[in-house]
Amino acid sequence: MAPTDRRARLTLLTGPSGVGKGTLVARLLARHPRLWLSVSATTRAPREGEQDGVQYFFHSRDSFDHLVSNGGLLEWAEFAGNCYGTPRQPVIERLEAGTSVLLEIELEGARQVRRSFPEALQIFLAPPTFAELEQRIRGRGTEAETAIEQRLERARTELAAQQEFDAVVVNDDLETALGDLERLMGLADC
Ligand code: ADP
Ligand code: 5GP
Repeated sequence: MAPTDRRARLTLLTGPSGVGKGTLVARLLARHPRLWLSVSATTRAPREGEQDGVQYFFHSRDSFDHLVSNGGLLEWAEFAGNCYGTPRQPVIERLEAGTSVLLEIELEGARQVRRSFPEALQIFLAPPTFAELEQRIRGRGTEAETAIEQRLERARTELAAQQEFDAVVVNDDLETALGDLERLMGLADC
């Protein structure tokens, strides 16, 4: 095992839009202040209440392309018509300092990180049923119908790839899913 303890590791959390990633990540961060969540860059427009540098770094397509061409992103992908990517430097710095790092990213990005960090723990978050996923994404009320349909279509591809991951957590009961994530990430006691 590396000189840092087993908690000082990189964890990827992937799962279809609306499955509850954001909800669970917020709970994890509240309970484990030493866990660090990478703030991604995106070309998506901010949702109501989202602030630049908090949920995302919001970019124009040109400035996102600039980040890509400068090698500033650890991985990036297109998702439902927008680009998303992980700023490289802050992740490397945290890992070198022994901090546990969490990336909440979609499937293509997870595949890229898997190649560069094969030791990363990759967790797939799945819904109890597809119908429940649809209900959650609609219930959230943050996307227009076209975007919801794009996200649900993408969800089918993501769900079909869940076997690629180290572990699958079903987000049916929120507290159970939270406990499962804590156990997998070695956070249960910190
Ligand atoms: P994601 O970040 O994966 O797109 P969100 O965290 O925004 O998903 O969750 C989508 C919706 O589902 C939100 O309205 C959230 O409150 C709800 N939700 C999350 N987890 C559960 C759960 N275990 N049971 C019921 N609803 C949930
Ligand atoms: P949303 O628009 O709902 O915030 O996010 C859409 C999708 O983009 C989610 O599946 C989320 O995990 C993913 N995502 C967020 N940040 C990144 C990132 O930096 N890289 C990649 N590849 N996907 C991301």
